[in-house]
Amino acid sequence: MHLDPFELHEPATVEEALELAGTLSGKFDYLAGGTDLLPNYKMHINLRPHLISLERVSELRGVSSNRIGAMTRLAEVEESPDLSRAYPGVAEAVREVATPLVRASGTVGGNLLLETRCFFFNQTYPWRQSLGFCLKADGDRCHVVPQKERCYATFSGDLAPALAALEAEVEVAGPSGRRRMPVEHLYNAAGDGILRLSLVPGEIVVAIHFPESARRARSAYTKLRVRPSFDFPELGVAAAVWGAAEAPEKVRLAIGGLETYPRRFDEDTDALAGAPLTDARVRTVAEAVTRRVRPVHNTFLPPDYRRRMTEVFVRRTLSRVRAPNGSVAA
Ligand SMILES: Cc1cc2nc3c(=O)[nH]c(=O)nc-3n(C[C@H](O)[C@H](O)[C@H](O)COP(=O)(O)OP(=O)(O)OC[C@H]3O[C@@H](n4cnc5c(N)ncnc54)[C@H](O)[C@@H]3O)c2cc1C
Ligand code: SF4
Repeated sequence: MHLDPFELHEPATVEEALELAGTLSGKFDYLAGGTDLLPNYKMHINLRPHLISLERVSELRGVSSNRIGAMTRLAEVEESPDLSRAYPGVAEAVREVATPLVRASGTVGGNLLLETRCFFFNQTYPWRQSLGFCLKADGDRCHVVPQKERCYATFSGDLAPALAALEAEVEVAGPSGRRRMPVEHLYNAAGDGILRLSLVPGEIVVAIHFPESARRARSAYTKLRVRPSFDFPELGVAAAVWGAAEAPEKVRLAIGGLETYPRRFDEDTDALAGAPLTDARVRTVAEAVTRRVRPVHNTFLPPDYRRRMTEVFVRRTLSRVRAPNGSVAA
């Protein structure tokens, strides 16, 4: 595997980066830590002749309990005592991303925007060529769900569910100015594994912002993966609970690693507000969520197993955060 030549651009401000993006429209990718993008380039997946590095843009840096800049390294988030104290679920999710080496380079923005994954896609050019290319790169059909319309590649980031459960917002800057939206709206729920984001071309992720209320939540993240030291999530469940266990004000659940986007389940968890989070009520929600999710066979573990584990992991994660000491009378 080798990296083809590309031209590297190094703007110093968001505005300069956006100007370059306008000039190079359709022929560039933004480059953050490169831990997701460059391995894909080495496999000749969706190459662009220009890379706009965000490394020198100081506005994208910094981590506090209110804000995380998009170019903040995952290791910096992991090492922030303020953030770990305020949002245990985020700290747990970050610690579970890849390896210490990847976390030293990989950024928060890159983690939110990492490419969706599929074992027919994350392969070398000759491997993909020998089977016949697919919709997501170079081809016109899907090998997972045989048809020519939709890609089912899986969203496999750990951070997005943890942030979505806490109702964090993402700030983006683009050709028409800046806007903020809930983290889960960064993803295109009506799209697929290719049309996976709601960003307009050229938009940059600037930062994550935590609402004041996030600090009052108890949060946790539980991840299923094959090799605990290394692998992408086959399922990642984030939960947050506000208020007393006997009568929680609000419960939020967000899940990644199963579908093309990280998904929240407010329609199920809203029913948990106002009454004790007993084992029976937690189980009812876990079963309802499990009925809704639709993993396909494009990661290591079979979809039926991932679905069954969804129920187990939702129960476990909610049980960990339902009360300060984790227990409530059934
Ligand atoms: C061995 C290995 C294991 C891994 N395991 C995991 C894992 O367990 N969990 C997990 O979540 N991830 C995992 N990853 C994926 C990845 O390394 C991390 O998600 C990392 O955080 C990506 O960040 P990056 O800065 O390197 O992104 P990059 O590779 O630089 O960029 C990723 C994408 O985001 C875009 N982008 C980056 N920043 C911005 C921005 N600010 N604005 C607009 N676009 C932007 C890029 O154009 C690119 O499309 C793994 C990677 C490797 C190599
Ligand atoms: S889900 Fe189908 S189209 Fe998408 S990457 Fe996999 S094989 Fe390709």
